[in-house]
Amino acid sequence: MNNVLNTPIEYLKGVGPKRGDILRKEAGIYTFEDLIYYFPFRYIDKSSYNKVTEIPDLDAAVQLKGQITGYKEVKFGRGKRLEVGFEDDTGSIDLIWFKGGKWITPKLQVGGWVKVYGKPKKYGSRYNIAHPEIEFLQGEKEGKLGLQPVYHSGEKLQDLGFTSKGIERIIEQLLPQLKGQVVDNLPNWIKADLNLLNRETALIEIHQPSSLELANRARLRLKFEELFILQLELLLRKEIAKKKIKGLRLETVGKYFNEFYSEHLPFELTGSQKRVIKEIRADIGSGIHMNRLLQGDVGSGKTLVALMIMLIAIDNGYQACMMAPTEILANQHYTSIKEFLQDMDLKVELLTGSTKQAKRKELHKELKSGEINILVGTHALLEDIVQYKDLGIAIIDEQHRFGVAQRSKLWKKNALPPHILVMTATPIPRTLALTFYGDLDISVIDEMPPGRKAIQTTHRFESARLNVFQFVENEISKGRQVYIVYPLIQESEKMDYQNLMDGYEAISRRFPLPKFRVSIVHGKMKPEDKDYEMQQFVNGNTQIMVATTVIEVGVNVPNASIMIIESAEKFGLSQLHQLRGRVGRGAEQSYCILMTGSKLGEDAKKRISTMVETNDGFKISEVDLRLRGPGDIMGTQQSGILNLRLSDLSRDAQIVKLARSKAEELIEKDPGFKDKDHQNLATLLKEVLKSRPNWSRIS
Ligand code: ADP
Ligand code: MG
Repeated sequence: MNNVLNTPIEYLKGVGPKRGDILRKEAGIYTFEDLIYYFPFRYIDKSSYNKVTEIPDLDAAVQLKGQITGYKEVKFGRGKRLEVGFEDDTGSIDLIWFKGGKWITPKLQVGGWVKVYGKPKKYGSRYNIAHPEIEFLQGEKEGKLGLQPVYHSGEKLQDLGFTSKGIERIIEQLLPQLKGQVVDNLPNWIKADLNLLNRETALIEIHQPSSLELANRARLRLKFEELFILQLELLLRKEIAKKKIKGLRLETVGKYFNEFYSEHLPFELTGSQKRVIKEIRADIGSGIHMNRLLQGDVGSGKTLVALMIMLIAIDNGYQACMMAPTEILANQHYTSIKEFLQDMDLKVELLTGSTKQAKRKELHKELKSGEINILVGTHALLEDIVQYKDLGIAIIDEQHRFGVAQRSKLWKKNALPPHILVMTATPIPRTLALTFYGDLDISVIDEMPPGRKAIQTTHRFESARLNVFQFVENEISKGRQVYIVYPLIQESEKMDYQNLMDGYEAISRRFPLPKFRVSIVHGKMKPEDKDYEMQQFVNGNTQIMVATTVIEVGVNVPNASIMIIESAEKFGLSQLHQLRGRVGRGAEQSYCILMTGSKLGEDAKKRISTMVETNDGFKISEVDLRLRGPGDIMGTQQSGILNLRLSDLSRDAQIVKLARSKAEELIEKDPGFKDKDHQNLATLLKEVLKSRPNWSRIS
């Protein structure tokens, strides 16, 4: 960036050290450029004049032009007030100052032209405006009309004169200095394609718009630029990573994959599964390191995809591992993979926190010797002592639960880093995916295995509980199983636990032995007890599973057909959707019942109604984004990327997409940024790539 814009703010005329300090502290304005990027958040329409006779009908602030008819100081109490007569060609009012009259009086001239703005009040039979904004004009012809910008200010800023108006004044001062100084980062062809303003015009128009339309175009242009540069950066990082990081070449699709595919696959793959497997195959066979995100709604069959990819690794003489965030999940993956592979000559093992020492030792040895083909587990897989003979691919399920640092440990498990496939069942809105994972490859399973009936979701108040339980009883008598989930919130853990236990007792009373059997799983239980209870439910020995959100991810019991969520208003949308995904896994009609108290806040209502209306995880994630904002969804570890000055990822989805497609187009046209039209961008990106930390890489 050029010199004028980099000048420290205190050097701006009328600012100085003391006021500069407050701008830095209170508004984050360090330089001229920061001031220019301190945009107004709205505009007041001062593009026309009102007449005095209109005042009674308006009940709003007015802008008037007219002449001073006289003025006097009037004593009241211990002070004085200044009363100024004003008239236009339709009538007259008074302008009143209780304070600050000293500054006004010397400028007053009977017959002088002024422009005033303020909200009139009726006093007796006459209108007056207290403390109007006033501008003294040279004559009738003068007086600029337009939109007046309104800037955020605050008490400390105001104390030093930086009211909205005060900020407007210093910006007004600065703008003329921009002439010819603003480098335009956008190539001309993009500006032409999208009909975007050039940067200098945009910066002027956003502060001093000639019309609302131009103000909007200015904002669009600047947001587009911000997002476009971000997308270019992400794409370039991806390119650089691909060139730099050599990957294992897993190109053989051999015995194991083929045998499984033709002899043991219990069902047809869905079209989506086939497509995704193809994408991943191409990737891991190319000799370039894969870093891919696999998105697919709950129940879309990601585990099977992962398994088939692991078979390819084995076909190429490598081992594979799969890591899950909880023991229950790891167990379940282990069990289902064992089952899929039962008739094949492959060694699959499980390693978790509760694996006994002796078994661990054995596992470590067999991993090192290459006897174990697939290792499933939890964080325990990351320990340094876990060493493979040749790890070809690492699959990570539910990436939200793993930190970047943890994931990076996987890299070190092999001389050449293993390929990484991260699976998530939390659909991420495309905008966020493009931004947070913009430097990753993404595969999406957007289709459910056939034969599934859409889950019916209803919302019930406490008053309907008897009916709900009757419904549960009917389903159980048809042989179905039921989840009842209670919230677990950190701050009130004790109370939640109490609720869960109370609920468990009430349910046990309503569904008594010997006809019914109820399981319970919660976070305070020992892992082996949890597993035992879970297993009881999986095997069908119990019909009701009372649980906290520990069952949220991945648990698979196809016979379970009802999910009751207690205090559903306390859950976030994506959590509700995850929980609902526990049912609807078999061929039977499944139900999700959201129980709530009768008083619901606006957001809670929206969450519940969204759940009732749709089963589409991507739609749900879009609503979630609007309700919570990107920061909450992606977690703080990635918040660095949220330092966007202008754009809002939840509102500017369209611009993100546009920016992405233009960034792709540019890189395709001119990958080396050789074109003269791309020189400014090249310079800028070089700086950006050097200065910004690398926040979004999975591993
Ligand atoms: P998720 O994507 O949530 O991890 P899973 O991999 O657990 O989903 O799959 C859910 C269920 O669907 C499992 O019981 C799995 O065996 C089954 N399944 C997976 N793919 C198919 C398919 N193509 N056809 C029928 N059932 C499938
Ligand atoms: Mg899963």
